[in-house]
Amino acid sequence: MPTQVENRDYSTENSSDLQQIYNIVEIFHSVQGEGARAGIPHVFVRFGNCNLRCEWCDTDFLTYTEMTAGQIIEEIGKYECKNIIFTGGEPMLNDLWPLRRLLNQNQHHISIETNGTISIDDGLIDWICVSPKDQLYPNTKIKQRTGDELKCVYVGQSLSLYDEIISGFDHLFLQPCYMENESVEWNGRNFAHTESIVKDNPKWRLSLQTHKWMGID
Ligand code: SF4
Repeated sequence: MPTQVENRDYSTENSSDLQQIYNIVEIFHSVQGEGARAGIPHVFVRFGNCNLRCEWCDTDFLTYTEMTAGQIIEEIGKYECKNIIFTGGEPMLNDLWPLRRLLNQNQHHISIETNGTISIDDGLIDWICVSPKDQLYPNTKIKQRTGDELKCVYVGQSLSLYDEIISGFDHLFLQPCYMENESVEWNGRNFAHTESIVKDNPKWRLSLQTHKWMGID
């Protein structure tokens, strides 16, 4: 069970920020399972809707409820955790500034997982993870070309796809595509192939979705 923390008084906070509406699929406390911040507990805020439709997407981002920023902050406040991840769906379809301003008051660290098709204002996010989908959408330009990590789902594409943007990122990750409706053997072959590509391209690190092995969100 999450630890409840003292209720906050938001009466002095900007009321229009508190009233901002977001489409939220779920908010939950878990450990980041992939990428450079793997192993760190976070509160995940999953936003509804996405501007892409990737064939391996495992998120039902079209089932959501409307929540105000005030309700989201209250939900986040149930956990004694300062690390927040905005994920989706595509969180950058939203104006995230009201949430940023409200979370600032409690010194939260905000990460984002984004497909990179919408650029991110300076100062909005503390940790930017861009996961481009160029292999499926060659005509969709990546607008967010800098960040902390570039995490690419590997489905056999050439790594030269990322030549133009890798210099903008501190960490480069290649993550095997995990297809839930494929066999263990199919996924195993894809894992082995991704591992061999990383061995041949040591600038890249292997990212595994360890939370899936643990059977957690
Ligand atoms: S960009 Fe991400 S959330 Fe959107 S469809 Fe692709 S995998 Fe799903």
